[in-house]
Amino acid sequence: MSRRTKIVATLGPATDDVATLTEMIRAGVDLVRVNFSHGAFADHAARVGRVREAAALAGRYVGVLGDLRGPKIRIERFAAGSAMLRDGDEFTLDTAHDPAAGTDSIVGVTYAELPRDVNPGDTLLLNDGLISLLVTAVEGTRVVTCVTAGGELGNQKGLNKQGGGLSAAALTDKDRADIRMAAELGVDYLAVSFVRNAADVEEARALARAAGSEALICSKIERGEAIGHLEDIISASDAVMVARGDLGVEVGYAELTGLQKRIIRLARERNRVVITATQMMESMIHSPAPTRAEVSDVSNAVMDDTDAVMLSAETAVGRYPVKVVQAMAQVIVGAEKWHYTQSRERHRIDGHFSATDEAIAMAVMYTANHLTVKAIVALTESGSTTLWMSRIRSDIPIYAFTRNEPTRRRVTLYRGVYPVAFDVTHTQPEILYPSIFQLVIQLGLAAPGDLIIVTKGEYTGVSGGTNSMKILEVRV
Ligand code: ATP
Ligand code: MG
Ligand code: MG
Repeated sequence: MSRRTKIVATLGPATDDVATLTEMIRAGVDLVRVNFSHGAFADHAARVGRVREAAALAGRYVGVLGDLRGPKIRIERFAAGSAMLRDGDEFTLDTAHDPAAGTDSIVGVTYAELPRDVNPGDTLLLNDGLISLLVTAVEGTRVVTCVTAGGELGNQKGLNKQGGGLSAAALTDKDRADIRMAAELGVDYLAVSFVRNAADVEEARALARAAGSEALICSKIERGEAIGHLEDIISASDAVMVARGDLGVEVGYAELTGLQKRIIRLARERNRVVITATQMMESMIHSPAPTRAEVSDVSNAVMDDTDAVMLSAETAVGRYPVKVVQAMAQVIVGAEKWHYTQSRERHRIDGHFSATDEAIAMAVMYTANHLTVKAIVALTESGSTTLWMSRIRSDIPIYAFTRNEPTRRRVTLYRGVYPVAFDVTHTQPEILYPSIFQLVIQLGLAAPGDLIIVTKGEYTGVSGGTNSMKILEVRV
């Protein structure tokens, strides 16, 4: 449990057997992402079922994030499963083409308005900007292009116009239906794609609640327009994702790194969770080891204080779904080793706390960072105390002791927070503390003689009731 930064892995055909999933979870997957862009309800339900099975086999809690498709324009499918585009070749996008019959020279597109929205001279980018096409002519349903940066092109890859220009609302009709599906799947997080403003987030949250889901709402920052409303979007969300694929296309990739740092900082200042995503270990789709640039990218996200780093195609369709998780976990541990040698931060030291439990959480972190403490044990219902604690940089592990299984799955995403099943039926100190010590020793979280900090409220079963911290020596 010495790794603090969490790993999100996208599910797909490459993760479809329980044995592989179990190994991935053992290797370090904390939360899985189900992308509603690819596959039908039955696929997603089967995948979530296998995750629950694998998590039980690995003896771990694993959260589930459902990712809405959003108004993304995509190409259709190729007869051969993929196509090879070569620089200088002509390639046609045709909204009337048979969706299953793409070739090396033509493919269907889901978006009927495409010929109206593009003009000769426009640059179209495919697959998060890896492939680019220059529009040479528009004829009826056909957009004729010249390949300016080729490569292998898979089914249903996203299509963007360079510089952005999507005007569609964040939530499509499919997304509304998918929110009901997400509720049925019992996802812990719901990711909203192409969020424009706080109202989009509120709308998704209302739809989720109406469908009976208590999922936390994660806004994907991937639209140029969102950058002007970052603070509001983050405040309206529980979590945000730096979705670098589409964001890089919309704002230009040169600004991505700066934006990533800014989004992570703004999220943490507002007690929100943040995931850094896209192409983090991209070469490991085909290769058994990461490039040095990928190692640096993951390390830098860790040093930016992201809660989690994400794998997309690397696990969904990659050749090495287990190896890539192992490599990512190793890189995180290596980066954290150097990160925490830095001085203690002043983050939030001048701030005003809005609630008693938040004040307790801050007092704990101040104490933990200045006293030799082995572990922090937070008796929690909703996990919010551990969220506040984890916004402060520290190398002391924070254990969320909770009887609520949804809370245990939710905190899998919080940096430095680890879920532990603990049912506090007795609040009398002479029963409570020995049972905490026993579990702490049994799980190897601390040994007799170690100091730990325990936070709790007066009563169990009350959310937001944390009002005390105890510094205790572990005893048998
Ligand atoms: P998004 O914009 O939401 O990230 P995406 O198309 O980039 O959508 P990812 O989940 O990032 O999708 O996965 C990257 C690639 O992996 C996809 O483009 C697709 O080729 C493949 N992939 C992912 N999930 C699946 C799946 N369930 N079935 C088939 N292929 C998948
Ligand atoms: Mg998407
Ligand atoms: Mg993607």
